[in-house]
Amino acid sequence: MKRDEVFEFFRRLAEANPSPTTELNSSNPYQLLVAVVLSAQATDAGVNIATRPLFEHITAPEQMVEFGEDAFRTAIKTIGLFSTKAHNVIALSRALIRDHGSQVPRTREELQALPGVGRKTANVVLNTAFGEETFAVDTHVFRVCNRTGLAPGNNVEAVEVKLEKIVPQPFRRDAHHWLILHGRYTCKARLPECWRCPVSDLCRYKPKTLPPGERVKPKAARTGARASSTARTATGRTASTRNANRSRVRPTRLP
Ligand code: SF4
Repeated sequence: MKRDEVFEFFRRLAEANPSPTTELNSSNPYQLLVAVVLSAQATDAGVNIATRPLFEHITAPEQMVEFGEDAFRTAIKTIGLFSTKAHNVIALSRALIRDHGSQVPRTREELQALPGVGRKTANVVLNTAFGEETFAVDTHVFRVCNRTGLAPGNNVEAVEVKLEKIVPQPFRRDAHHWLILHGRYTCKARLPECWRCPVSDLCRYKPKTLPPGERVKPKAARTGARASSTARTATGRTASTRNANRSRVRPTRLP
């Protein structure tokens, strides 16, 4: 995608949602860190359901350690990989108390040294809690960047490097939120909703998904009988033309 197209891409996403942010609930950097660790291979909505009652009482690593791994594991058992995540959250809470004065560190290196914290989690925390211009690439961002031609790459690191290079000001800080939300609600994995997409003309993906009322249902196209005689099939032929062709090649039955 050309430089002016990239600018226009983000300008339109920004126009549609001027103040994007994470959908994970938290009230301070520590809760955000815990929520992001829990969100790996889980939905934000699922994490919020589990953390809502917990975060009313647990706002700091000391309280989490006191709560204990067994109780925390039980509290988050609706989330995938809950056992490993519970272990990591208790371990990272201990590390924050021991090495960082119970504060969430502000550098990528220190964050990634914590148990259960990878590059994507560090990027989200640096961006959302501390306002850094980082580009967390999750499954939605990866899909949108490749489908649209915005920042194609074979893996998340390659996409992140491209985003670092191409995203212009004033969109750098919120770019990853716009991309996540666009992928989650419009450019969906199974069926992108191109007909209502604000960046459709800039996007390289083809063929674009038609509005629900304009799509040909495969079964209707196959039988042709119930469809209108002028309805076009995926091949561009009309149902009546196909029926006519069929009758020409079908052998006549003798009485
Ligand atoms: S046009 Fe379709 S594929 Fe392209 S970004 Fe929009 S929803 Fe995604």
